Amino acid sequence: MKLIRSATTNPGKLREFRIAAGHFGHSHVQIEPLEHIASLPECTEDGETFEENAIKKAIHYSVHAHRPVFSDDSGLVVAALDGAPGVRSARFAGLKATDEENNRLLLEKLEGVEQRIAWFQCVIALAHEGRLLGVFNGSVEGLIATEPRGQNGFGYDPLFFHPPFDCTFGEVDANRKLAASHRGQALKKMLDYVDERL
Ligand code: IMP
Repeated sequence: MKLIRSATTNPGKLREFRIAAGHFGHSHVQIEPLEHIASLPECTEDGETFEENAIKKAIHYSVHAHRPVFSDDSGLVVAALDGAPGVRSARFAGLKATDEENNRLLLEKLEGVEQRIAWFQCVIALAHEGRLLGVFNGSVEGLIATEPRGQNGFGYDPLFFHPPFDCTFGEVDANRKLAASHRGQALKKMLDYVDERL
């Protein structure tokens, strides 16, 4: 069994990480959260790109673990908003904003806007004892719906209409989402790397 740790405190992401290894046929890779992450020195996410933030977080937290640690930096890029909310997706409506508040603000900003193309991006960085091992990415395109639909997932999922599914990410289960999502693509690349190289 190969154990790697995730440096996230986002329960929505953790749920997807937990099923990813089985989903992608790497059942001997085990993904567990980094223990005691809340008591470790915090890593400020001040980068201007997903990649910068993911690398910074993975290196920072891997210093505090025996096993390799990965960090996911991800977000929603909306064409009509010049790429916003982007790296600020989690705090679009304010530092401690809830998913509902972020979604409401997004709908407000897109009121009356016809061009609703958007994509999720995910960059995963994997590090061991302060050394970067690899960077893996994924993206998925969709359209921002005019009202939330579905109770599944997290973040902007209820507003992210994915044409091949003919519904939002909020309306599909985690396995179906992983098969298409930005995070699923990046996780698959990382799991292939872990399998072959660690
Ligand atoms: P991070 O923790 O700084 O990477 O914040 C990522 C934020 O982007 C989340 O809090 C969500 O608002 C948004 N996000 C990233 N991935 C997803 C996804 O798969 N579904 C919905 N929202 C997402």
